[in-house]
Amino acid sequence: MLYLHDAIRFFWIFLLLSCAIIFGHSSAHAQYEPAPPSFYQQHSEYINSVDFTEDSSVPLQGQWLFYPQQFLTESSAVLAPRVVSLPASFKELTGSNQNYGTFVGYFKMPKAFIGRRIAIKIPNQYGAYRVYLNGDLLVRLGDVGKTPAAQVTENAPRIAYFVAENEYFTLSIQASNFSTLHGGIENPMRIGVAQVINRQFQQLMMSIAMVCGAVLGIGLFTILFAVFRGSKQRNSKSIFVFGIFIVFLALHNMFSAPYAYTAFTNISWLWGTRLEYLFTYCAILFFISYIHLLNRRYLHPLNYQTAMLLLALNIAVTLVSVPEIFEPLALYSSAFSLSVLANFAYGFYQTLKHGEAYSVLNLCAVIFLCVTFLNDFLLMMNWIDSVNLSFISTSLYALLIMFQQSRNYAYHTYYTEQLNNTLMELNSLLDQKVKARTEQLHELNAKLEHQVKIDALTGAYNRRALNDEIQQRFAETLRQHHGTLIFAMLDVDYFKNYNDYYGHLKGDEILQQLVQVISARLPPSAFLARYGGEEFAIVMQNVPFPAAAELLDAVLDAVRRQRFEHCRRQDAKAYVTISMGVACMHRQQRYADIHALMKSADAQLYAAKQAGRDRLQAV
Ligand code: GH3
Ligand code: MG
Ligand code: MG
Repeated sequence: MLYLHDAIRFFWIFLLLSCAIIFGHSSAHAQYEPAPPSFYQQHSEYINSVDFTEDSSVPLQGQWLFYPQQFLTESSAVLAPRVVSLPASFKELTGSNQNYGTFVGYFKMPKAFIGRRIAIKIPNQYGAYRVYLNGDLLVRLGDVGKTPAAQVTENAPRIAYFVAENEYFTLSIQASNFSTLHGGIENPMRIGVAQVINRQFQQLMMSIAMVCGAVLGIGLFTILFAVFRGSKQRNSKSIFVFGIFIVFLALHNMFSAPYAYTAFTNISWLWGTRLEYLFTYCAILFFISYIHLLNRRYLHPLNYQTAMLLLALNIAVTLVSVPEIFEPLALYSSAFSLSVLANFAYGFYQTLKHGEAYSVLNLCAVIFLCVTFLNDFLLMMNWIDSVNLSFISTSLYALLIMFQQSRNYAYHTYYTEQLNNTLMELNSLLDQKVKARTEQLHELNAKLEHQVKIDALTGAYNRRALNDEIQQRFAETLRQHHGTLIFAMLDVDYFKNYNDYYGHLKGDEILQQLVQVISARLPPSAFLARYGGEEFAIVMQNVPFPAAAELLDAVLDAVRRQRFEHCRRQDAKAYVTISMGVACMHRQQRYADIHALMKSADAQLYAAKQAGRDRLQAV
């Protein structure tokens, strides 16, 4: 038992190696009158040596004189004591836990610690006690009494301090108890230098607080995870229930032995005990609900509902009654756990047989939990000699489940991230493709727009482009005060004859060559379009009429000078020429619309033809 206890202490120390934060804790101080050394010489066979050192404490055990049914402050010269060793329950000593009496022990400590502050650590003892040092009250728990009515039970740990003025000292412990389950001085006390005892106590309390804090954090994380995961996911409910279980587990561990809450809070013993039981019920309630949700095979609905009813009854009774009532009720109710455990065993056997996912892990974990619960139950009943294990096992179980959950979650999020990355890559690839396609489309559109305006044969602008252009420039010229707009109509002379003689293909070629010659002679701002057939139009804006006339004349001359052969004319010339009619709009010469302007140019062209062709005729 002691080894296990030490192993557990090492577990806490290991957990909290770097967390020994010092906080003060004291319960009682006392000065005392040392007994004369002759007294101790008389009782030398009962003197227990407590050889603690600067760094270590030792158990406060050995031979004690026990006076049943007596409350004494020191040994009696009249009464005959029994020699017993502590820790021991009243039941071990007298056959019943409902008893009271006094233990007197003589101790000798190392001389080196005389004058130093010494501490005695008394872990939780069920019932009540008063400790006297050399006859003076040192520390107490609850109220000792000779009858159940006179006694006030408590169960918290205590530390008593005193300054040693002599290496010998006497401790008298008056203890009383009226519960059937516990009683006496059942848990081992320790003695040592105050700093060492304090440090050990703080390590224990802090490690419990740390583990409870970690488990509480895990529980809250699980609850929030389930809430944010929402109702869409089928198993969110079971994760939520599991989270609540973990939270109650942490609270339960805080309020169960060794009662870490007493180191941090001022909660009364009655409410501390109530909360211990309430948190235990809630933890069990949510644990079996979780198991029930996990797989219906683990817990039959009838079993589940009965357990829920029993827990509800216990919770209600605990809230309104006192430990003397709700503790036995809990004890009797716990008999039902046999049915639940049997159901678990059968359920796990079934899932194992069907090879369901996680069944082996769940089985191991639940068996582990159940064994430790059983251990604690048997310990509570005083049927076995052991230590509380459910605190460690439930914490480990919570950590195990969180390990499993966090691993699943991590893998899941990693997988989602991978998917997301692939999707994003695909998206950007698609974006690039769309961008390239759009650019191509823009280019094609621009080409098409241009082609729509171009005459396929000659490469000059076509009639549609001419219409747009003349319309736009006409409007602009009207808006401008001093603007001019020149519109020239060009017509190839005797072109019918040309076609007839040279053929249409040759005629087409001449039309193409004429466009090249004319555009080469025009400034970039001039607009050349094929009006239709062998007729062309030139539009020029804001060029003064004399300059425009000169330019257009130069165009006729350029054509003339090309000497494109044309030997079927009805005049003396034997080369291709052009006639031109020009209309000019300016401040003094307004036209109602483009049609009027074009009509005027056409009339001038007709006049040029009449006047002998190969010339320019202007208004
Ligand atoms: P004028 O000097 O009075 O203008 O005499 P013309 O023969 O040029 O006049 P007309 O309008 O009677 O003849 C125009 C001719 O132009 C008719 C047609 O053979 C020719 N023509 C019209 N479009 C094209 C074309 O796209 N290609 C070719 N090769 N010839 C065309
Ligand atoms: Mg014509
Ligand atoms: Mg013609």
